[in-house]
Amino acid sequence: MARGRVAREEEPELRVQRSEGHYVWDTRGKKYLDFLMGWCVGNFGWGNALMEKPARAFKGPDYVYPGFDYPPWDELAELLVSIAPEPLAVCFRATGGSEAVDLALQAALIHTGRRKFLSLEDSYHGNTLAGLSVGASENREKRKNLLPGCRKVKPPLDERALARIERELAGKDVAAFIMEPISMNLGVLVPEAGFIAEVQRLCRKHRTLFIADEVATGFGRTGTLFACEQLGIAPDIMTVAKAITDGVGGMGAMLASAPVARSMEKHGVFYSTYGWHPRSVDIALATLRFLVKNEKRLLEDMAATSDYFRSRLQSMAFGKTAEVRVRGLAIGIDFRDEKYTSKLADRCRERGLLTSAEGETLLLIPALDVDRDTARKGLDILADAAGPPAARASRKSRAAASSKAS
Ligand code: PMP
Repeated sequence: MARGRVAREEEPELRVQRSEGHYVWDTRGKKYLDFLMGWCVGNFGWGNALMEKPARAFKGPDYVYPGFDYPPWDELAELLVSIAPEPLAVCFRATGGSEAVDLALQAALIHTGRRKFLSLEDSYHGNTLAGLSVGASENREKRKNLLPGCRKVKPPLDERALARIERELAGKDVAAFIMEPISMNLGVLVPEAGFIAEVQRLCRKHRTLFIADEVATGFGRTGTLFACEQLGIAPDIMTVAKAITDGVGGMGAMLASAPVARSMEKHGVFYSTYGWHPRSVDIALATLRFLVKNEKRLLEDMAATSDYFRSRLQSMAFGKTAEVRVRGLAIGIDFRDEKYTSKLADRCRERGLLTSAEGETLLLIPALDVDRDTARKGLDILADAAGPPAARASRKSRAAASSKAS
């Protein structure tokens, strides 16, 4: 085994050389259309001048010690809070999504004085021990001493799930209920507005905090700046990361309501050496200012693109029953078959399209400003990869014949 290698969970699917706009190139020079975008990171395409320019032109300090003050921290906090749902008021600095979620869980423990958490079964909320504790129960099989008292509610998010949540919260010892409002990790799982309203009512009734994990969905992915908006969620705590810098800098944030923030500032530990690095702050400011200035146009264009994806996917022949779930440009195609989904993702990649196989669901996560031609190209590749073997073979031979002819 080679010494000095980076640790991996599995064999990498791609060795990346370069990325630009909607495309990624591997080390052999093969070009891929990117409908993965780093898994909800590059919302405006790779190498976008909007974020690259401030990164290159940055003239601020190399670094700011967390005990000092750095005025752009407050500028960014003000901007983030101005677009975030009420009653969020104070931002805590983090380097990424896992740290932000960990801070959120810590804040909930401190503010409520309780020890338990409730979350959705098989969700993902980051790689810290606390994040794993509220994620899939299978995490416990190998790590026996994750946070105790973490209960999971199994989707579907229906009346039975609500009854389970009510039973869990009735003990008045659950610090927080944490979920992705629209779950990317559960294959674009969209709860009914009625379900969410009832969960919020139960949380308030039993004084359990509601944590909205918007690490993946934040900054427009689901068709509104935050998924909370379209579901009418007023979270006590929200976490963000990923697309906040469009991939040009590492960053995460935990946003809390004023009372929760007061508890955390008084009793919490949130020192973060690289949290809100000055360069990342500049890039995030540029990203958010662009979002705010162009929100209406961006979301309108996105809604049209979203409709296009939905109608093409609903009429696509997959050779397998598929449930198409689309919210903004969070797109899930559920085949109820993990093997098929993974194979389809492989076939797409062989044909030059990057997607994500999330369990039984194939995720398409294109850039939010993807144009119609690029969307069509990606969907054509998917249709080709999904077609029945006979159709694929005849398409291949037609393509070979036409390339011979030309
Ligand atoms: N929460 C959610 C919902 C996520 O999707 C992720 C990452 N996929 C995280 C938290 C962790 O974020 P990071 O990888 O930046 O630590």
